[in-house]
Amino acid sequence: MSLAEQMDTVTDAAVDRHPTAETFESTAPATGTVVGVFPVHDEAAVGETVARARTAAAQWAALGFGGRRERLTAYRGYLARRMHELADLVHRENGKPHADAILEISLSVDHLAWAAKHARTTLGPRKVPSGMLAADHASYLEYQPLGVVGVIGPWNYPVFTPMGSIAYALAAGNAVVFKPSEFTPAVGAWLAVAWRAAVPDVADAFQVVTGLGATGAALCRVPVDKIAFTGSAATGRKVMAACAETLTPVLLELGGKDAMIVDDDADVAAAADAAVWGAMSNGGQTCIGIERVYATSAVYDRFVAEVTAQVQKLRPGSDDEATYGPMTMPSQIDVVRRHVADATAAGARVVTGGTDDDASPGEGYVAPTVLLDVPETSAAVREETFGPTLTITEVADAEEALERANATSYGLAGAVFSTSRGRAMDLARRMRSGMTSINSVLTFASVPALPFGGVGESGFGRIHGEDGLKEFTRAKAITRRRVPLPVNLMSFGRPANAADALARVMGMVHGRHR
Ligand code: NDP
Repeated sequence: MSLAEQMDTVTDAAVDRHPTAETFESTAPATGTVVGVFPVHDEAAVGETVARARTAAAQWAALGFGGRRERLTAYRGYLARRMHELADLVHRENGKPHADAILEISLSVDHLAWAAKHARTTLGPRKVPSGMLAADHASYLEYQPLGVVGVIGPWNYPVFTPMGSIAYALAAGNAVVFKPSEFTPAVGAWLAVAWRAAVPDVADAFQVVTGLGATGAALCRVPVDKIAFTGSAATGRKVMAACAETLTPVLLELGGKDAMIVDDDADVAAAADAAVWGAMSNGGQTCIGIERVYATSAVYDRFVAEVTAQVQKLRPGSDDEATYGPMTMPSQIDVVRRHVADATAAGARVVTGGTDDDASPGEGYVAPTVLLDVPETSAAVREETFGPTLTITEVADAEEALERANATSYGLAGAVFSTSRGRAMDLARRMRSGMTSINSVLTFASVPALPFGGVGESGFGRIHGEDGLKEFTRAKAITRRRVPLPVNLMSFGRPANAADALARVMGMVHGRHR
């Protein structure tokens, strides 16, 4: 079945179930043409979808780790065989270059493989030591699925970002209902269509609901057993408030204002290359993108020159050779303009790019923009810009760089460039963020074994890795009495001197420690 036919099937099925449903259009940011028409699922429709997911969740959980791994493997194979088809859709609906979409899908497939492979060893039943006071018992730990997980995702990485929750939630034994951003519903629907085709016997274990913000809000209220939200801090607050009503646990992956530190001994050319990619790829619409650089005086001039030279080679556009695409969400252009205007009004210098009409590469695009001498108090340093911009600030040394990097309410990720391994590790550890890469940018996102998530206003909870699997489970503790001991301390029948005997034993075992 062609892509268009598959998309029609999704829309028709959804409209058939809810004939009165309103619809909305998703349009290509590069051309304004319609990519697809999708139903606006209301609370009743979301409720019905979650009810179907609940039935499927029991079936999915009963398959066990082996049965689920088999089906997740089929799904990953399906995606891997249709990478170009999906990348083409991502290119049209989100605007990013086809090659970047291929990279995004590759990462997602790799995460699916890891989650499926490691679910049993991370979550499966195991015996744990019972300890002295329960020596007559065997103790068991296992991580059980929650039931139905609601995933709410953004538009900037419409495959990779939600898949970080979907893959791990499914591998942990949950059913998933996914609400994609209103800017990328076609990609979300494609992922669900692909699931139905690859895993027909438990098709309802992964479903999509489409709509605007209200559909996401409905998913929080229905309720489900956990919400995994990725998006802005502002919406994250609303989601958490809505989830509080039903005591639904939440995982929040929010925005960032990530910094790179370039130390005295850094490979300056490599640092500049990484900073330009970290700041400008995907049009800067990357939660873990580099938005600020703090370079020491020893390397500052060379670093600025190198970045400027590299940025001048970038060309935004929608063709195959373009380095990045249009802004996916048109209103984001106003945010970028405000940050650049605010910075220049405060004395910043625009080395390349800018948001004036004569610098614009065309309607819907933002020129790659490098700003120097931006005051630390301005919006371009304090707030998430989410555009192809970079501030570069000279600092005395790496300690000052770290202090400034950490002076933010966000704390998602960051990077350190230094050729001294010990120094770089020390800086990375002390960076207030959930993730830091040394001598590269964004690499942690491509390592499935590493947890992904932030601190402060960047949210809490983790996707990816063992932590990401556990995030979608509840720990279950079981003890089994093996042999009755002569004295049972937890019984009204215990002898009167049992407490004294216990105190003596505890004194002998623990009392000698000072
Ligand atoms: P938003 O917060 O605007 O939206 C995120 C999702 O929430 C969308 O699907 C949106 O639907 C939905 N939504 C909107 N209102 C509500 C509501 N009241 N209740 C429930 N859901 C709602 O973020 P963006 O889509 O603009 O994404 C960009 C943001 O995401 C940036 O801040 C970026 O840093 C962050 N991000 C974080 C990542 C991380 O892993 N930490 C990764 C990627 C992005 P609709 O679009 O239909 O309004």
